[in-house]
Amino acid sequence: MIKREPLVKVGTFLTNFALKTHLPVEGLIKSTVFDHFCGGVTEDDCLPVIEKMYSKGVSSVLDYSAEGKEEENHFDFTVEKTLKTIDFSHQHESIPFAVFKPTGVGRFKIFEKMTAEEPLTEEENAEWERIIERFDKICKTAYEKDVPVLIDAEESWMQYAADNLIEEMMQRYNKKKAIVYNTLQLYKWNRFDYLEDLHKRASEKGYKIGLKLVRGAYMEKERERASKKGYISPICKDKPTTDDNYDSVLKYVMERIDTISIFAGTHNEKSTMLLLKLMEKHQISPNDPRVWFGQLYGMSDHISYNLSNMGYNVAKYLPFGPVRDVMPYLIRRAEENTSVAGQTNRELMLLRKEKERRKL
Ligand SMILES: Cc1cc2nc3c(=O)[nH]c(=O)nc-3n(C[C@H](O)[C@H](O)[C@H](O)COP(=O)(O)OP(=O)(O)OC[C@H]3O[C@@H](n4cnc5c(N)ncnc54)[C@H](O)[C@@H]3O)c2cc1C
Repeated sequence: MIKREPLVKVGTFLTNFALKTHLPVEGLIKSTVFDHFCGGVTEDDCLPVIEKMYSKGVSSVLDYSAEGKEEENHFDFTVEKTLKTIDFSHQHESIPFAVFKPTGVGRFKIFEKMTAEEPLTEEENAEWERIIERFDKICKTAYEKDVPVLIDAEESWMQYAADNLIEEMMQRYNKKKAIVYNTLQLYKWNRFDYLEDLHKRASEKGYKIGLKLVRGAYMEKERERASKKGYISPICKDKPTTDDNYDSVLKYVMERIDTISIFAGTHNEKSTMLLLKLMEKHQISPNDPRVWFGQLYGMSDHISYNLSNMGYNVAKYLPFGPVRDVMPYLIRRAEENTSVAGQTNRELMLLRKEKERRKL
């Protein structure tokens, strides 16, 4: 159903309306789109899914996916949740990474003002200090428990502040190996230059770089804002340019694997194949801990399970949280799956092909 764009548009509108007006739709969401893309409401709910996937060699990244909260107590709650997932990960071999979102631990507006280099009020300065403390608490715990932590990337107008803060964390905790991972969204045309600069800084200061490589999930929003405000869109002009950007970065990092560890978060078969070839070319063994492949739960099982079957490190992001709070995540998944070149269409085509093959 989610490959049909009009249905997703109407469905998104109706779902948001129903949730806002407190209509009893959570049960319906839970038994459909939620169960497809999420592991459950709590970490414990996710355990059966984690074990099932791990029995086939596919690991999990527990992702507390409540979004859009603005209160300080919620930010502290997210920190506690993330520390708990680090602990969970420390105890379970099947959960090799922890993850969090910058705006899960601090107000979007503060990141936005810091990115725009606007002065903060005294109160906002104190808020920013608390954000730094929260980042540090998570990264320090990750370091002490030896659990690498992935930090998600979001909208470009808040990301500069997050990048700087994450670099500071890398400098602090990545002296021996990558514990703190930033995310590069390669639909942004300036990320290759950023990576080259980052590599220079890391070499000078003597720390390792951890990177999750993705294409990016906020394209429509980015383009809309750029056109509304009249600045050049940070997004590549078309899909092939994004694809080239992604693949060029794969080549760049594989040549520098001694200093850069990666988590390639993609459902793109071509980029996945390219990374396999690059690993072979550079004689990097499939289970080298510096290279991980990642997909989202509910998507691209054909990639995840084939990779694990061949002995590669592969993990699926497994979102969890209250149904209402993970809606922004679910809506992003529905929206990105509607395009003709989108993952759902590709997967459906493969499933149909396989069904035909089995009939024969
Ligand atoms: C494990 C994991 C973690 C993720 N974490 C994040 C994160 O922290 N932040 C984040 O933003 N996203 C994240 N994503 C989502 C990711 O950015 C993509 O939205 C999603 O994976 C689809 O891209 P793809 O590489 O899988 O495949 P594809 O289907 O090949 O690529 C689709 C993507 O290409 C780009 N694209 C499509 N059309 C155009 C166009 N016309 N012009 C330019 N570019 C275009 C868009 O980024 C689109 O999402 C994550 C994905 C995974 C698998």
